[in-house]
Amino acid sequence: MDPLIFNIQKFSTHDGDGVRTTIFFKGCPLRCRWCHNPESQSYQKEMVLYRHKCTACGACVAKCPHHANALVDGELIFDRSKCVACGICVDWCATEAREIAGKEYTVKELVKEAKKDQMFYEQSGGGVTLSGGEVMAMKNMDFVEDLCRQLHREGISVFIDTSGFAPYENFERLLPYVDVFLYDIKRIDREDHLEYIGVDNTMILENLIKLSEAGAGLYIRIPVVGGINAKPQCMMKMINFLKHNHINARQINLLPYHDIGKNKYAGLDRTYDEQGAMLIPENDEMESYKAMFEQHGFHNVKIGG
Ligand code: SF4
Ligand code: SF4
Repeated sequence: MDPLIFNIQKFSTHDGDGVRTTIFFKGCPLRCRWCHNPESQSYQKEMVLYRHKCTACGACVAKCPHHANALVDGELIFDRSKCVACGICVDWCATEAREIAGKEYTVKELVKEAKKDQMFYEQSGGGVTLSGGEVMAMKNMDFVEDLCRQLHREGISVFIDTSGFAPYENFERLLPYVDVFLYDIKRIDREDHLEYIGVDNTMILENLIKLSEAGAGLYIRIPVVGGINAKPQCMMKMINFLKHNHINARQINLLPYHDIGKNKYAGLDRTYDEQGAMLIPENDEMESYKAMFEQHGFHNVKIGG
């Protein structure tokens, strides 16, 4: 199955150098507690229901062939287990309370979309960033390779935003076409990584070492999340890992946690931050982590993307 795309964001300035078009792939094996794109996690299409926009008009009740909607005492009841995300109801909802996350595109269509802004890439040193979800863990990597190859052939810079959680062969086949991997490091301790991110980080750290040895362009991106990794000892472990393994990072980006995506969870009938443990780091705290990296010999350290 070809990958699904859940968003194409134009004029992005936080996903790598210059002005970029960011293509978001749907599907991810990780479960970061702070994920601000919960619609990116499932590999399937999903209905997103914005209940605050619903006027209980009943149009979706009448049109759904799978009887996934009902009006009870003037209130819309949606049974997600019956919904096959066919999208029929979306066209009938006058208030745009309904949306399907996930759409098929061909490689040709994505390249065509990207080329519309090629002039801006050239002026700004930008290009295309593939993000997710986890691009490197798509079931159809032929699609991803073909997309990268065609963008590269068009002279468009290709960045890939990745958690690193994928077989190294997937990275190896893209190396000729990818200018920079925006490579996330979240925790160094294996047990903590399992707890907060949902997967073992052995493969992530091994892949980073291999990519560095292969001469890949690398920007290391560290989401800084209060209550999860915003601690000097966590930062120190990352610094030690990068130094000990001679990781050739062109840039370090410290990305302060934000909770902008939390309202998306309700649209998917999910709950955000059940433990209430995640905190937004203060500016001076971010500055102190930046200073730590600089004191240990990293010169291109930025707060933000
Ligand atoms: S997407 Fe299709 S199956 Fe799901 S509620 Fe709408 S019409 Fe019913
Ligand atoms: S069609 Fe839209 S506004 Fe009407 S009941 Fe369904 S979700 Fe609510």
